[in-house]
This record gives sequence, C-alpha cells and structure tokens, in this order.
Amino acid sequence: MSPAEKIVAGIDLGGTAINYTFLDERGQFLIDGLCEHPARSVEGPDVCLGQIADGLAIAAERAGVPLAKLVAVGLDTPGPASAAGVFSRRGSTNFVHPDWAGYDARAGLEARLGLPVTYLNDGNAAALWGHASVFGSENTATSVSAIIGTGLGGGVIVGGRVVTGSHGFGGELGHVLLPYTAIPGIEGLVPSCNCGRTGDLESLCSLTAIRRSLLPHFLARHPDHPLAADRDIAAAATRVRGLAERGDAMCREIFQVQARALGLFFDEMINVFDPAAVFVGGGAVETGEAFRSWFVAEIRAGMPGQREEQADLPIHVIRDGDSAGARGAALDAARLVREQGL
Ligand SMILES: [Zn+2]
Repeated sequence: MSPAEKIVAGIDLGGTAINYTFLDERGQFLIDGLCEHPARSVEGPDVCLGQIADGLAIAAERAGVPLAKLVAVGLDTPGPASAAGVFSRRGSTNFVHPDWAGYDARAGLEARLGLPVTYLNDGNAAALWGHASVFGSENTATSVSAIIGTGLGGGVIVGGRVVTGSHGFGGELGHVLLPYTAIPGIEGLVPSCNCGRTGDLESLCSLTAIRRSLLPHFLARHPDHPLAADRDIAAAATRVRGLAERGDAMCREIFQVQARALGLFFDEMINVFDPAAVFVGGGAVETGEAFRSWFVAEIRAGMPGQREEQADLPIHVIRDGDSAGARGAALDAARLVREQGL
C-alpha cells in the first residue's frame, strides 16, 4: 500500500450525537461539513461503541473510503476524563449510564475496532483543529484556544502539541480566574461558576454564564426588555446571541462583557505562553461575519496594552465549528501514525 493510501478517522462522541470525519495522508479531509448520527450513549458504552463501529462503516461508504485503508482513529468526547480517555468515576452529565463511570473509552474503542485509537477531550480537539487550520498539521507553533459553549473549554498547543497535562486537565481554561472587576458594565455582579470559583472565565463567558449571571444582571437594569417577559431563563439565554447579532443593545452588552472577559484571559495566556495566535470558537461565534468581526474587536479592546512584539497577535475564529472536534481528533490520530510509522 502506498503511503498516500493511508487514512485516519476522527470520531467526535458527544452526549447526543456522533460526528465522523476522515483525513488522508496529504492532509485532506474527505468529508465536507457534517457526518452526524444520534448517539446512543444513554444505553452505555457497549451499545454506544458498537454504534460507533457501525457508523464508521456508513461514513466510510459515504466518503468513498475503503475501511481497509484505515490505520488509526482519533476519539474525542466531553469530559471529565483522564488524558488517556478514562471517564471520571463520578460520572458525567453527557454520559449518564452507570457503565460509563470509570470506563476507558479509548481502550474500549481500540478493542472494538482493532485499530490504534488516540484520545482528546472535545475542547482540546477543537483547539487542535483551529490551530492546524492556520499553521498546518505539522508545525511547531504555540496557540491558545477558547471554545465558548454551554461551558468554556479549549486548549493550549505548545510547539505543535496539545498540552493535556498530568491528569487530563490541561487546557481547562474555563476555570482560570480573571480580574473581572475591571470589566465595564457589570459593577456589583458576583459571577459564580459550577466549579466553586467566582470570576473565572466560564463564569463570565459561556451560555451558562448568560443564564446564571449576565442575563439576570442586565434584565434587572432593563426591565422592559422583551426577554424579561420570558419566564424560562434558560430558553431566554439561548436567544441572546441571535438578538445580539441583530443589533439588540442589551444583548450586545452581554456579548461585550464576554468578549472583554476573553480579552483579560488571553492577556494572561500571552504572558504565560507568548503564543503565535489565539483562537475563539464554539456556538457563540457561529454567526455572520459582521458579528464575528465585532466580537473579535471587542476581545482586543478588552486586552491590556501589549508589548510591541505581541501587539499584532492574530485573534482567529475557529471555522467549521460543528466538525471541529472530529477534525481535531483525526489530526491527533495522524500524529500517532507519523510518530509511530503505522
Ligand atoms: Zn469555574
């Protein structure tokens, strides 16, 4: 088999959906957009891994990829899980079946498929895709990515490699504390996080932050706003991004706070890692170009003055958000193939 015929797969396993992609040795993704199936994770690992194996065959047929060419698979999932892909014994909101507790998802999939499997958490995988989309898949660049979703995930890539950490918590960027009282417009707000911290990045920049802190704070100041009539604060929170994109002043303020929090956060990362670029991704920036540009400008406006050498640091938006996890997982599998000569 010639080298160009080797293929790796990326599998993004979420609580409700599985997303597949394939990557060839020239670095070309063989599936455009989304190849997604509902996930049967509520039925436990045995059923779910069987479903992944079946779905891989379907996805391969759709992409015109003979499975015989598959040499490795990258898996990514939401945490909490170890760097090696073992789910927390305490369970997970995305994987509620009791058999998932303490389950080694990487080894389980490897045994099921009979192929080497690599593991990343979903934030790290999306960060790796964002990084590679700018710097290429073989690079030694350093970057920091923040992925804004229900929570705040992300990843740190140093010298082209994902920092997974000693216990799998590398790149848990959401729980980095910020000097949040420097952010204008939230005087008096005490933003709390599920982790017990006050004023970390996730407590100010996530869908959960909007529902729990930012929307109640701003609605108290704008009692006549249409969202004040919505009794379901969780549903109202999901409408903030769309309203902000359409120019609603209060919802823009909420996104401005999130951007300013990111500005403070990236400033901390710049002083730790001196990255070549920073990235922002996730549902919050799955918007039109005009809103994305405004949001990035607000992030930059929230950053303290930088050294001359770092002042032009690029802030990129991660594209292909829905398939970012699967693509990053595939890139990690490709790294294994390169390093181990599979
Ligand atoms: Zn936290």
